[in-house]
Amino acid sequence: MEKIILTGDRPTGKLHVGHYVGSLKRRVELQNSGQFDKIFIMIADAQALTDNADNPEKVRQNIIEVALDYLSCGIDPEKATIFIQSQVPELTELSFYYMNLVTVSRLQRNPTVKSEIQMRNFEASIPVGFFTYPISQAADITAFKATTVPVGEDQLPMLEQTKEIVRKFNQVYGDTLIEPDILLPDNKACLRLPGTDGKAKMSKSLNNCIYLSDSKEEVKQKIMSMYTDPNHLKVSDPGQVEGNAVFTYLDAFSKPEHFEKYLPEYKDLDELKAHYTRGGLGDVKVKRFLNAVLEEELEPIRARRKEYEKDIPNVYRILREGSIEAEKVAAQTLKEVKDSMKINYFDDEELIKAQALRYNAQD
Ligand code: ATP
Ligand code: MG
Repeated sequence: MEKIILTGDRPTGKLHVGHYVGSLKRRVELQNSGQFDKIFIMIADAQALTDNADNPEKVRQNIIEVALDYLSCGIDPEKATIFIQSQVPELTELSFYYMNLVTVSRLQRNPTVKSEIQMRNFEASIPVGFFTYPISQAADITAFKATTVPVGEDQLPMLEQTKEIVRKFNQVYGDTLIEPDILLPDNKACLRLPGTDGKAKMSKSLNNCIYLSDSKEEVKQKIMSMYTDPNHLKVSDPGQVEGNAVFTYLDAFSKPEHFEKYLPEYKDLDELKAHYTRGGLGDVKVKRFLNAVLEEELEPIRARRKEYEKDIPNVYRILREGSIEAEKVAAQTLKEVKDSMKINYFDDEELIKAQALRYNAQD
């Protein structure tokens, strides 16, 4: 069986370091590993519209931002197909058929959708499209026969839903679709990177992000004003590292060689945490270290972005070619799906013959 990756992001803003550690960095590694036959990376504009129907301009403007973020992180259009969801209408058609295989109560149980509904104050007026987006994600994943979906932890319920749809479809209509596996980050801190405000998730919608395209100065300013331990007032106070976003970021980004380079008085992160916990280590010192660590990661990304920004029409060309390529693949799957469901009346000579016979027999 071919090994195929499908993953993507909603163009609701620029990508942030949560996306980077949660999914993007892994995608680039997988892309360069040579272990995959095909890699599809989708800019999910249609999904973004499910909760931004009144603001299509926001989605439209952010497509290029997400594309630039991809390219600057090292997604290579020679190795990966980058495409725009709405330009592959087969995905919508697949969703429509999958909708019949899912119940309303099953959708209501999806914990990620539940918390997103709360976050957006949608309780009394959930758009139907938003409510059903896990089904459309199943269409995205299965259309490309993806075997591997590298995403953050919030996507676990979507993958479960997809697997259920695949099983149900194959059971009712015969083996057609492939069950995908989720690939979560190995590092616990990267599963769901918290926001700079200490909130559970760094998210474009919450305005608590360090963006991949932030300038050096912006990154520094955001780190220096980050939420830490509210009870760690004086340097001498004992501090808490659990729930302290600065330390979670260090868990996500720091490597032993960073200590050698920037903080040689500590052997590793455990030693730094121990000092903070017993007291005598100030937030500013830890934040400066975090800033240095993050800059090592972000500086090359920023530099590559500058290069791609010089030729924006070329980036749209990449997206266009990717979308054409993606549509070919999705159209083939849709054909197989419709064949399995026997929605292929005009190609089915047996059907036409049998109906003719039935009528002629009556004469
Ligand atoms: P929105 O607020 O519009 O939903 P988002 O910041 O949640 O935006 P998405 O486009 O929904 O971003 O998510 C894209 C990918 O990034 C998914 O695989 C998701 O799991 C991952 N991801 C998003 N935020 C984080 C985070 N804070 N930590 C780890 N992974 C994340
Ligand atoms: Mg999201």
